[in-house]
Amino acid sequence: MCCQVLDIEEFDKKAGVLCSNCKLTGGCKIYKKRPQVCRDFECEWLTERDVGPMLKPDRQGTLLMIDADTDEYLAVCDPKKPNAWRNPLMFKHLVAKAKEGHTVLAKAGLMAWRIYPNGETAPWA
Ligand code: SF4
Repeated sequence: MCCQVLDIEEFDKKAGVLCSNCKLTGGCKIYKKRPQVCRDFECEWLTERDVGPMLKPDRQGTLLMIDADTDEYLAVCDPKKPNAWRNPLMFKHLVAKAKEGHTVLAKAGLMAWRIYPNGETAPWA
């Protein structure tokens, strides 16, 4: 998921486009020489205990991460599943994060929505 949905400025990979180094069978063709940005990235599913196995990115079509620049809590969706963030289990998790005080955004391509602690949502520019 992260090798597809994220924009990687370091080697001009656009968001939503599968990295040309990604093997169709899974994994990275240049794993031992992959760029530092790839070595450093860890999604919330990998690092946070409250993100359970059902929220695994490839299972949900949604990658959970903290934006290092803005500190926003992001649910970045597979472009083929732009509404994956609305899945009840995922949505419950996102509302819980909003209640913790995070600014929570769901993104799909150029579209974004804010998710509020009361469960309301609104398009986000
Ligand atoms: S270089 Fe490898 S780890 Fe980095 S985005 Fe491409 S496939 Fe993924």
